[in-house]
Amino acid sequence: MKVCKFGGTSVASAEQIRKVVDIVTSDPTRKIVVVSAPGKRFSDDIKVTDLLIELADKSLAGKDTTEALQKVVGRYHEIAEGLGLDNDISQVIEQDVIRRLKKDQSDEILYIDSLKAAGEDNNAKLIAAYFRHIGMEAEYVNPREGGLLVNHRPERVRALPEGDEKLSKLRERNEIIVFPGFFGYTEDGTLRTFNRGGSDITGALLAAATNAELYENFTDVDCVFAANPTVIESPRAIETVTYREMRELAYAGFSVFHEEALVPAFRHSIPVCIKNTNNPSAPGTMIVRNRDNTIQPVIGIAADKGFSTLFVDKYLMNLEIGFGRHLLQILEEEEIPYEHTPSGIDNLSVIIKSEHLCEEKEARIMTRIEQELHPDDVHFQEGYSMVVLVGEGMRHATGLAARAASAIARTGANIEMINQGSSEVSLVFGIQESDENLVLSELYKEFFSEVPAH
Ligand code: ASP
Repeated sequence: MKVCKFGGTSVASAEQIRKVVDIVTSDPTRKIVVVSAPGKRFSDDIKVTDLLIELADKSLAGKDTTEALQKVVGRYHEIAEGLGLDNDISQVIEQDVIRRLKKDQSDEILYIDSLKAAGEDNNAKLIAAYFRHIGMEAEYVNPREGGLLVNHRPERVRALPEGDEKLSKLRERNEIIVFPGFFGYTEDGTLRTFNRGGSDITGALLAAATNAELYENFTDVDCVFAANPTVIESPRAIETVTYREMRELAYAGFSVFHEEALVPAFRHSIPVCIKNTNNPSAPGTMIVRNRDNTIQPVIGIAADKGFSTLFVDKYLMNLEIGFGRHLLQILEEEEIPYEHTPSGIDNLSVIIKSEHLCEEKEARIMTRIEQELHPDDVHFQEGYSMVVLVGEGMRHATGLAARAASAIARTGANIEMINQGSSEVSLVFGIQESDENLVLSELYKEFFSEVPAH
């Protein structure tokens, strides 16, 4: 039994949904179908999720919502019409969005979550209706009924294992299950959405709970590439990658698969295949537990902008017990997560995603560090990129860091930070954002120009 998930571009129009239905019906083991909200049909298009966020914002600001509502409903209407479905389904969808609009606004986040989820929820209803329209046995299953249980606010949303038993029962159903991605319910029935792109997570949770033989994640590219194809011309396709490698790549900018979606697949050893809805016969990329990493120690190179450093320097810092803990506690109290903490004997840098910072927070943190830790120097600096070499084979390869550093040196870029975790699955270089593309190209040349094509 396979769980397949179709991303936004795969379900953006009637034409795309027909491809989805062909893919599902061509293989009887494709039993559980997780769908996103309609995404972009062309590059300047707007995703339904973004239209819904705009609608929620208008409603919260007390503005007229007629036009924004029509934009959402219009997308579904067009799809339903293109699929030859009668008007009933469009009516159901319009009423559903209006019902959500009228909900209690006292918790703005939950109000927005409920509207955002309308994107996948209604698309699942519509796609299930289309399966039935063409004579297939199919059923829409709401995540509450299905058992997708999530934790309460204010904690970051995550699925709770208590829901798994109920979810596992989906495997026993005979009909095709169409399940909306991106959201679940707390025990008391409150809807919460995952982070953006979170339908991948739903698919992985269902694949894990039902112990599927394979989780297929259909998107709009043939495979995962070894580097960003918008920077590197025709990068190498990755045939097989391990969960840990993919986690590192997804973290550092490979947006093909949500980083949080790997956890359930990894814990239950469910293989994942990334495939293209527009070219389903292409083999895609397999994500598995182990691969032969002797031929290719580095599997991919990722790069991501938008990092800041908090730099703290104090003479004899290494002798001061509790210095690091105290510094990180200040960040914790400001609710700031951190990424890396490279250190020297007398200094410590904390690398933070810039989106978690603002001027006031930075000022407060600096004042506290000055007053409580008495450093010789403390400052924030923004504008960093993290370039990450990823590969399980790096653990056994010698001289790899030297090769990478020399390649970066050839570009003239300065390495601001190097970090290699003890697992040695990744090697991270902090550089200036403006050097990112050049560094990526040079590293790609260094590690991939000699790898034989498959
Ligand atoms: N529709 C949601 C988004 O645009 C979730 C998803 O597509 O996975 O982020």
